[in-house]
Amino acid sequence: MTRTLVDNIGLLVTNDSSFDGTPLGLLRNAAFLIEKGSITWVGESASAPRAEAQNKIDAHGRCIIPGFVDSHTHLIFAGDRSDEFGARMRGEQYSAGGIGYTVELTRKASNGQLLQSGRRLIAEANSSGTTTIECKSGYGLTVDDEARQLVVAKQLTPETTFLGAHIVPKEYFDHPDDYVELVCGPMLEAAKPNAKWIDVFCDKGAFTPEQSRKILKAGIAKGLLPRIHANQFGPGEGVQIGVELDAASVDHVTYLSDSDIDLLSESETIATLLPAAEFSTRSNYSDARRLFEAGVKVALATDCNPGSSYTTNMPFVIAIAVRDLYFSPEQAVWAATKGGAMALRRKDVGHLGLSASADFSILSTPSYVHLAYRPGVPLIDEVWRNGNRIK
Ligand SMILES: [Zn+2]
Repeated sequence: MTRTLVDNIGLLVTNDSSFDGTPLGLLRNAAFLIEKGSITWVGESASAPRAEAQNKIDAHGRCIIPGFVDSHTHLIFAGDRSDEFGARMRGEQYSAGGIGYTVELTRKASNGQLLQSGRRLIAEANSSGTTTIECKSGYGLTVDDEARQLVVAKQLTPETTFLGAHIVPKEYFDHPDDYVELVCGPMLEAAKPNAKWIDVFCDKGAFTPEQSRKILKAGIAKGLLPRIHANQFGPGEGVQIGVELDAASVDHVTYLSDSDIDLLSESETIATLLPAAEFSTRSNYSDARRLFEAGVKVALATDCNPGSSYTTNMPFVIAIAVRDLYFSPEQAVWAATKGGAMALRRKDVGHLGLSASADFSILSTPSYVHLAYRPGVPLIDEVWRNGNRIK
């Protein structure tokens, strides 16, 4: 059996607090051993089991971090919305955009076209250090189009999410409850074979709390696991519903009441912040410091989508979180790795402790702090997943 020793690591982020008593579990002058794609030994380089390793990777003193876990994306779609973005940035009115426009283009695209575009975005994400990615439907909004979005998504990642309840499509504007019936019935049935998660956009202009509860419960009854888009545009019941149904994550959470924060701090539900969406729409950011003060577990993700956040780049999200949301660099790196893994209820990724999947990035720098300190600069030298180099 081939064992690979990754050695001469200047600074290793393990996210295993037993190493140094901090959440990042930092080790200096470190090494780890990979066997069958998993980590079987980690510690100081001086005591590395060199004789056991057939291969050696020399990190030359650079920093190694766990692969990013991007737990919230919408990357199966056709076309883009650069005209809408341009108009928004120029302060102009623009009526032709919105999710409905992407739905129109996505319905017209073939599975092959959707797969090709999804692959391109995944390759982008991989090259900036993402090794686990979640992917939602939600641009089909018919039984067949939602089902085929998930067929495509399943070819790209095991973390697939049925989001038939993204918006009410225009065919149902006058009778939205009939659309909710469709989502909970035939659409869920068609989506189920290729979906792990069920999600709903519970917000102003999307789905009401009653509709959201109904949709998530229908998914849970069919064996899907709940997550929710909540409190992005204003206060509401989204967080309450998420916690009540033991959602793995409540996402966006820009507008939170004190009781929302109390609920989150006493639950297993992760608060996933998507600050690239606020960045790209010039909206207010979430107040992350309130979450940290209350001890809520926080994840960071890209929300990659063609309307409000067209980026796959987790280092960019880290830089915004540190600069504008007052995360410490340590909190941001943890949220983009271990936080994301917890938002997907995954124990095998998001850390580099014993038995973790060997998913990691070798940075060009001596520290993870550079991810926020040198924004926009490509600092990810190498990316490995399951012990195989993918960049
Ligand atoms: Zn989203």
